[in-house]
Amino acid sequence: MEKIEMKTPLVEMDGDEMTRVLWQMIKEELLLPYIDLKTEYYDLGLQHRNETDDQVTIDSAEATKKYGVAVKCATITPNAARVKEYDLKEMWKSPNGTIRAALDGTVFRAPILIKGIMPYVHNWSKPITIARHAYGDVYKNVEIKVPGAGRAELVFTGADGEEIRETIHEFKGPGIIQGIHNTDESITSFAKACFNYALDTKQDLWFATKDTISKKYDHNFKDIFQEIYDAQYKEKFEAAGIEYFYTLIDDAVARVIRSEGGFIWACKNYDGDVMSDMVATAYGDLSMMTSVLVSPSGVYEYEAAHGTVQRHYYKYLKGEETSTNSIATIFAWTGALRKRGELDGIEELVTFADKLERACIKTVEDGKMTKSLSLISTCKNPVILNSLEFIQAIRATFDAL
Ligand code: NAP
Ligand code: MG
Repeated sequence: MEKIEMKTPLVEMDGDEMTRVLWQMIKEELLLPYIDLKTEYYDLGLQHRNETDDQVTIDSAEATKKYGVAVKCATITPNAARVKEYDLKEMWKSPNGTIRAALDGTVFRAPILIKGIMPYVHNWSKPITIARHAYGDVYKNVEIKVPGAGRAELVFTGADGEEIRETIHEFKGPGIIQGIHNTDESITSFAKACFNYALDTKQDLWFATKDTISKKYDHNFKDIFQEIYDAQYKEKFEAAGIEYFYTLIDDAVARVIRSEGGFIWACKNYDGDVMSDMVATAYGDLSMMTSVLVSPSGVYEYEAAHGTVQRHYYKYLKGEETSTNSIATIFAWTGALRKRGELDGIEELVTFADKLERACIKTVEDGKMTKSLSLISTCKNPVILNSLEFIQAIRATFDAL
């Protein structure tokens, strides 16, 4: 059989622990036999990040800007324990944070739906994609624990020295205050990423804030979205037969629960943090969740939503059998390959990605799955496979499709 040829390389970001093991298996079993795989390889494994003083992470982000599409393996975000374990020179920053900052992106997360894994909300027959704004608000806050009586004020001093001043509260006793911010630039990027992703995936876009209470802060989000939509996206949305829909956050949660899914839900930073965990749990778990970072300039970085599955890796190191679900990592590859195929006009690559995703789903629907999936599946007599056997079963399904 002839292998599929690629034109532009994918930026390949290798990672850590169990997902690094799966990464190699996926390439050997599911990609290299079928594709003349072209990648520019960056080893984001913690040891190599440490050796390069984390320069490799910055280089991989720059390469992503250059080529436009990256696929990333889960990586360790070091904490004190990891500094000791890997004898690190420094507690290096989260690679995802570094890459997100460089690409100025929005993260889109969507569940992978499979028959036999019933969402807790039974009418959610299609995926709900959460688009989380990843800058500012309470995540960049300044807080004061007020010790006693006094006046709290909000003061802005312009570059020209001019002041804007508002009283927050006249305290009669102890209390708390918090200052948060966002920028029009970041909100604009977020809005554009959401509109582009909706067009890309032909899904309606929902956005909600609390603008009735927060008449300036949240209202600014609403206004920026609406202005950009009217000026740049309205006609494109109409042509694609999709809708932009704004409502109050309270109304949104009620509608989301009643919906059948199949749309993108754009969330402010905190809403996205909370709602993505709720949605992921309602559909199954993080190992059945895709994640893609999209920059406003149209650069894509695909990954799994889960971490490096440390507990399984330690078992693997001891030579014990593991049954780790590789589907989210496979979907990171298929997402990236499909996008590369679309950008380079390689139909076979798009078809390959679609077929490999179908093979993953069919394998599980046929009752062959990992231990973690068997725990949430309604399948009567599941055949539980180890990490490699599961990938090989997907290959067999793929070949038979
Ligand atoms: P994790 O890798 O998400 O795994 C937590 C638990 O969830 C596992 O122990 C396992 O449960 C289950 N699980 C997750 N993915 C699974 C899969 N594919 N198949 C089967 N079970 C799965 O989180 P962690 O172990 O707490 O974190 C490990 C490292 O990942 C940390 O160093 C963290 O910094 C990093 N991390 C990276 C990313 C990223 O790169 N995007 C994201 C999150 C965390 P059982 O043990 O019960 O089977
Ligand atoms: Mg969270």
